[in-house]
Amino acid sequence: MRSATTTSQISVPFFDLSRLHNSLADQLQTGFDEIIAESAFIGGPAVEAFEKDWAGYCGVSHAVGVANGTDAIELVLRAMGVGPGDEVLVPANTFIASASAVIAAGAAPRFVDVDPGTLLIGADQVRAAVGPRTAAVLVVHLYGQPADVHAIEEVTKPLGIPIIEDAAQAHGAQLGGRMAGSLGLAGTFSFYPGKNLGALGDGGAVTTNDASLAERVRILANHGRAGGHHQHLAVGRNSRLDGMQAAFLRAKLPGLEGQNQARRRIVAECRSRLQNTRIDFVHHLPGAVSSNHLFVAQVDDRERFRSALGEAGIATSIHYPTPCHRHPAFDAHVPGYLPVVERAAERIVSLPLFPEMTQPEVDAVCEVIGEVMVGEERRR
Ligand SMILES: *Cc1c(COP(=O)(O)O)cnc(C)c1O
Repeated sequence: MRSATTTSQISVPFFDLSRLHNSLADQLQTGFDEIIAESAFIGGPAVEAFEKDWAGYCGVSHAVGVANGTDAIELVLRAMGVGPGDEVLVPANTFIASASAVIAAGAAPRFVDVDPGTLLIGADQVRAAVGPRTAAVLVVHLYGQPADVHAIEEVTKPLGIPIIEDAAQAHGAQLGGRMAGSLGLAGTFSFYPGKNLGALGDGGAVTTNDASLAERVRILANHGRAGGHHQHLAVGRNSRLDGMQAAFLRAKLPGLEGQNQARRRIVAECRSRLQNTRIDFVHHLPGAVSSNHLFVAQVDDRERFRSALGEAGIATSIHYPTPCHRHPAFDAHVPGYLPVVERAAERIVSLPLFPEMTQPEVDAVCEVIGEVMVGEERRR
């Protein structure tokens, strides 16, 4: 039946960065030319200007550019003095970098389960896992949805345990009117090209209202340098944001809000057109505005669902097929059974979503999923 419709004849990519970059070619070229003219490749005015822009966007007083989102997590933990002997609570449903950065800082990730509706870390999971070695909670705003920082804070604040937000997927997300990256002691961002705000290479940032924490991150990220070029206060690293990437990010930042709105419109349309099917989209918290980095649903027979969509030309993906703690990399940190994450890993599917999707592409996604879900219903 499906082949009789016209819209589902088109194929829909999972995502397509070239549409955005083609439309910004002039601005990106201008940024490139400026950096070449200034030879300001490491640090310099473009990095300083972007840090200021990014802090302003996130509603914090400090942003420190670093080399990538993984380093941002590691460096902020080290700057807080979190290290050997300490544990950091990390949701098992996340990209592995959330956990590997904890290990890079010398601490141990303690994997926790997630809320069955949002698939995010919540207060119950934190309450069940905090202990005497807990030095921080890494709250991951996965898929771009803000996690319940306020409820988690009710557990952690009396214990004096700080919250760090892994906002690598949450550029522009909000909770109760406040921006992701401003909700905890510090926020960490990735500007990997595929994120909501992406460089043309790697990049990252730490955001915070704590001036001395920001300064310690800056020192650690720049060879421990403080005071002068040849003065090294700490054993640091080299993890800096390139001038070129900062220039590209400055060219792209003005478009971020509009792109997030386009993502929101597409998601709202698909959710409403598919509300009478059994597809189970991840839930959002009340008062939360997602950046909609990924459009994730749970389905019962995922392999059949994905191959039906694939045959109809609709690309899908899985974020993430293996829960973090199941990777051999973390054999030394295996937690107890985490039932929600284990079950979700078999049911989650990521649908195509990017701001430049055309209406015929959105129509195709909705129509094909609608038909596939009707087929699923008949099987029952
Ligand atoms: C992308 C991502 C990271 C890592 O960022 P990089 O810039 O690739 O190092 C960390 N956490 C989450 C949740 C991510 O999605």
